[in-house]
Amino acid sequence: MPELPEVETVRRTLTELVAGRTIERVTVTLPRIIQRPAEPEQFADMLAGRRIETVERRGKFLRIVLDELVLVSHLRMEGRYGLYRTDEPVEKHTHVIFHFTDGTELRYKDVRQFGTMHIFLPGEEFMCPPLNKLGIEPLDELFTPESLRCTLGRRTTKIKPLLLNQQYIVGLGNIYVDEALFAAGIHPERTADTLKKDEWSRLHAAIVETLGRAVEAGGSSIKSYVNGQGEVGLFQYSLQVYGREEEPCRRCGSVISKSVVGGRGTHVCIKCQPLGRSRRAAAGKLSDGVLPAPGSGKGRKGKQAANPVMKHFGNP
Ligand SMILES: [Zn+2]
Repeated sequence: MPELPEVETVRRTLTELVAGRTIERVTVTLPRIIQRPAEPEQFADMLAGRRIETVERRGKFLRIVLDELVLVSHLRMEGRYGLYRTDEPVEKHTHVIFHFTDGTELRYKDVRQFGTMHIFLPGEEFMCPPLNKLGIEPLDELFTPESLRCTLGRRTTKIKPLLLNQQYIVGLGNIYVDEALFAAGIHPERTADTLKKDEWSRLHAAIVETLGRAVEAGGSSIKSYVNGQGEVGLFQYSLQVYGREEEPCRRCGSVISKSVVGGRGTHVCIKCQPLGRSRRAAAGKLSDGVLPAPGSGKGRKGKQAANPVMKHFGNP
């Protein structure tokens, strides 16, 4: 599924391709893509004659802003947009076509058919599903170490599923959560309430840096992702842990392991991302029954200080 960097890349290319074009008519051949209004004919009628002004993004959703309407589009697993001339053959799995007055058309193709489109009046989209319950934008200035800690810091569940939950922070999926947790040196199975203040700061920096660099690289082309012009992203070459199970960690040389956390395949370097003092002690030192006192200076603290978050990030 495309995550924030891929959707942001689609947004940028789509803006270049379609801003300023006027929709003459719309063809829908797979009604279930259209979620709002209920009838695809009504969807087509509402869009006819509208001019596309710009394309914005909220989380993993595209907001195609038209004059006096907003089209909210989610690509889900494999949705793709492309601009074509009317005389070009329509490819298989093309489900929605926006025919423009200038003889071009925007085609929406979706092999898996999970994508969705909703139409709203401007502003209304933020009050209704699917956008109304979305959390903070991680590339927004309101996203700070403090806002991250306030949002998640008291939760007793594992950090990885919390970061994947779009109600808290939007845009992160399986790839970038694994990458950000590695960059921050935090094990995905740590529960949020065990993270120290400096770890929240490192996690915040890692999320912003990881997403920022991935946006610059045009996203990661894993499986079928391409941007609106059919170009692949390049960030997959910079991935540190995702998809690298059994390969050596680029920071310490240990083997990257893969396990399942919260139902999702999860990539970890257990040396760079220790699971934590108490659990290690519980696993290895059950006999004495005594956990090291907080702040006793053993273990992670000194190591982390000598292990700056982003130093090794982005190696090819
Ligand atoms: Zn490592």
